[in-house]
Amino acid sequence: MPRPFKCRRVCGLPRAAYFKPAGIPVFALEQVNLTVDEFEAIRLADLEGLYQEEASKRMNISRQTFGNIIESAHKKIADAIVNAKVLKIEGGAVQMMQRYFLCPDCTNEWVIPYDTGGPVECPKCQGKNIREALQDHGWAGGGGPGKGRGMCRRGRI
Ligand SMILES: [Zn+2]
Repeated sequence: MPRPFKCRRVCGLPRAAYFKPAGIPVFALEQVNLTVDEFEAIRLADLEGLYQEEASKRMNISRQTFGNIIESAHKKIADAIVNAKVLKIEGGAVQMMQRYFLCPDCTNEWVIPYDTGGPVECPKCQGKNIREALQDHGWAGGGGPGKGRGMCRRGRI
């Protein structure tokens, strides 16, 4: 019996999802896929300097799982750097920690990362009549923010 798969919580998607060695045509390069949960583990442990105990809590997973994720992430990044491979960040079963807003004036919908302050106006029409909708909705499975709300499954992002 496979254990039910648990979503890993992340605070945001990477700003860039594609890192390529300069000066080598892309068809001549191999590719390494880093998942978004591996990316988040790197961010928490290596950049923010959290202990694995604390970082695993933030991602809502066990310390053992966190250890496995970060080990795999380190290996992939090392492989990309040492062997000059493209590093692509995508996929993984994650639940985005983000907030979802909508503007009734122009029907604009948008999301912001959970750890930033709330918006004061609509980024499209500058209306102040904005409303916060679902908090902490997960999305996975493609389509981007606003699609597949509340779902969490292993696979594409
Ligand atoms: Zn608006």
